[in-house]
Amino acid sequence: MQLEKIIQSQGFGSRKQCRLLIESGKVNVENTPCFDPKANFPIDHFEFSVMGKTWQYREKVYIAINKPQGFECSHTPQHHRSVFSLFPPQLIERGLQCVGRLDQDTTGLLLLTDDGAYLHALTHPRRHVPKRYRVTTSEPITPEQIAQLQSGVELMGEKSLLLADHCELEDSHILSLTIHQGIYHQVKRMIAAVGNHVIALHREQIGQFKLTDVEEGQWIYLDLLQQQAAK
Ligand code: URA
Repeated sequence: MQLEKIIQSQGFGSRKQCRLLIESGKVNVENTPCFDPKANFPIDHFEFSVMGKTWQYREKVYIAINKPQGFECSHTPQHHRSVFSLFPPQLIERGLQCVGRLDQDTTGLLLLTDDGAYLHALTHPRRHVPKRYRVTTSEPITPEQIAQLQSGVELMGEKSLLLADHCELEDSHILSLTIHQGIYHQVKRMIAAVGNHVIALHREQIGQFKLTDVEEGQWIYLDLLQQQAAK
């Protein structure tokens, strides 16, 4: 693929902007500036650097972030910073989207991609990918509340009962809760429906995929196995 097309596909601006970047010597291939926008390179495992920062060619990006509190999952946030401010502009330029949303005050695993088919597959209402949350409540969690969550609770505006696939007490105020739908504020509303209140919510797992060794605010690219694990 031509270098200017490669650079453009990776989010470095319009074709013209990419051509100028290359012609001004800001793009290195194998540690040497390449001044020819039309130079051809195989894209498999292709590495290049722009103004000293190294990039690897990726046809699509699949990302997992350990989301901190205080970030909205929106390109146009209302009251807090956008989660997209945690990523380099090149990823935003290529159309990065959140795979489902977490509330601004929810922390933990959030997936993002620029692959429309992957996004659709994971967010389709009939898909039912299980999601595991660590829920901290204001009041001690009772056995009755656990039983209710497991048998299903009624939420205003929802036709069917919403139930926990798995619900396990970890501490008097901490519950490990797995759900498979993705209804607005679902966990907070389910906990409120059984007479308790969520004071902290952390997503630990989507499908079979867990984030390990990723600090809050940090993110990683997912490899193929990790992408499939989250499905
Ligand atoms: N359920 C909620 O209430 N909030 C989230 O952010 C995710 C699930």
